[in-house]
Amino acid sequence: MRVARLPARDEPGRGRLPVPRRPRRFRIVRPVADGSDSPKEACGVFGVRDPRQPVAHLTYLGLFALQHRGQESAGIAVSDGAKILVDKDMGLVSAIFDEHRLRALPGIMAIGHTRYATTGASAWHNAQPVARQAGDVFFALGHNGNLVNTAELAAGPADVSDSDVVAALLAGALTADGGGDLIAALSAVLPRLESAYSFVMMDETRLIGARDPHGFRPLFLGRLDTGGWVLASETPGLDVVGARVIREIDLGEAVVIDDDGVHSVQFAASRRRALCSFEFVYIARPDGRLAGVGVHAARRRMGQALARQAPVDADMVMPIPDSSVPGAQGYAAESGIEYGDGLIKNRYIGRTFIAPTQTLRDNAVRIKFNAIEDNVAGKRLVVVEDSIVRATTLRATMRLLRDAGAAEIHLRVLSAPYRWSCFYGLDTADRSRLVAATMTVDQIRDHLGADSLAYLELDSMLTAISPEPNGFCTACMTGDYPTPIPGMLAK
Ligand code: SF4
Repeated sequence: MRVARLPARDEPGRGRLPVPRRPRRFRIVRPVADGSDSPKEACGVFGVRDPRQPVAHLTYLGLFALQHRGQESAGIAVSDGAKILVDKDMGLVSAIFDEHRLRALPGIMAIGHTRYATTGASAWHNAQPVARQAGDVFFALGHNGNLVNTAELAAGPADVSDSDVVAALLAGALTADGGGDLIAALSAVLPRLESAYSFVMMDETRLIGARDPHGFRPLFLGRLDTGGWVLASETPGLDVVGARVIREIDLGEAVVIDDDGVHSVQFAASRRRALCSFEFVYIARPDGRLAGVGVHAARRRMGQALARQAPVDADMVMPIPDSSVPGAQGYAAESGIEYGDGLIKNRYIGRTFIAPTQTLRDNAVRIKFNAIEDNVAGKRLVVVEDSIVRATTLRATMRLLRDAGAAEIHLRVLSAPYRWSCFYGLDTADRSRLVAATMTVDQIRDHLGADSLAYLELDSMLTAISPEPNGFCTACMTGDYPTPIPGMLAK
């Protein structure tokens, strides 16, 4: 068996063969300014096994479709059946990979990852996929989610990602059991992990997808016409490579894909189902489906419910683009108020961008949005936003609309107040920075400079998402966490 040299922990520059060492003159700068007031995404994962197709290219397309879930770093690992190669870097998928780099990744299967850092710094050594060697076994993994017991599980340095910790645990289990079987190691390690994970993994010959027993983060299995198999965080990741959806990975289930097809392993009993309700509010692409529900239609129903719950006399309903668009359309349809655009978003900016000076950071919203004065001036506006987390950028957006001449601003929010930190894969900071944790709704209205403010009530939000409104995590709105949260994290 021919094996590739795989990266050891904290060994930058050796993950890809060959990988040039990052020149010292470059500094990794975390994108700090974001024109949206929504939570930051956690990660997107993709995997494909198809000996008949260029798997690195398919993974590139899959990651491109999942780019909205994380824009800080991206990577692809491939196996040709005998060795694993990893290529990863900081930045957007389109900026990292070109034809030359993809051609250098031949194989029969691949996994890919787009990252937004939750545990572990936004740095090259935390980019994924993570790869390890344990005895004769080589494996790579990509993780969407967040673990709450990383500190308890970690044996190494503090500044590592939870995914690194999982890789180290798997390597330890592979070495300990002597047999060196990744599935056995998974069955031993995954039940020890607390909270949210959807993994794609592979050893030299098998592609694996695994989902935590609560099902916080989505993970789909799809099939290509060639007979190949695909895993993706969201259905658009399957669509983009021409795969049809077969099913979601079950709670506590791992699917193992090899030459003989798909094998299911229940590594832990399923627990209280807790799919993140914010996948429907903000995270997931509107053209996708989750838990059998179309995301776009769910957002539109939230807007309709909000119009029934919090009506107002106004001239125009407008969204904060982009994720609030279906909700604003729903509000307009239900209320009979004209729908229009009051803000134009710079479509080339993505969800994050670099603002190199404090002045530019203060004006971040103007980099991302501009008001359409002709549509806004003198109007009574219903402004629909998906969520309010810290309120800093939304406050600036309200100012933008006032400066453009808005006569009244009635802010309507498609979710219930975001009062508690998320420990399951969204970066929403600690509670002291969540505006709804420290202010009443009236105080938030005044803070934002709106004439009125209403949030969609939680029950209405869940009913709008699905006719089966149980089975969703709502912890950031209720404080009812589906898993125990260690005291050191719960501030
Ligand atoms: S706490 Fe909120 S954002 Fe986090 S998983 Fe639960 S519903 Fe989603």
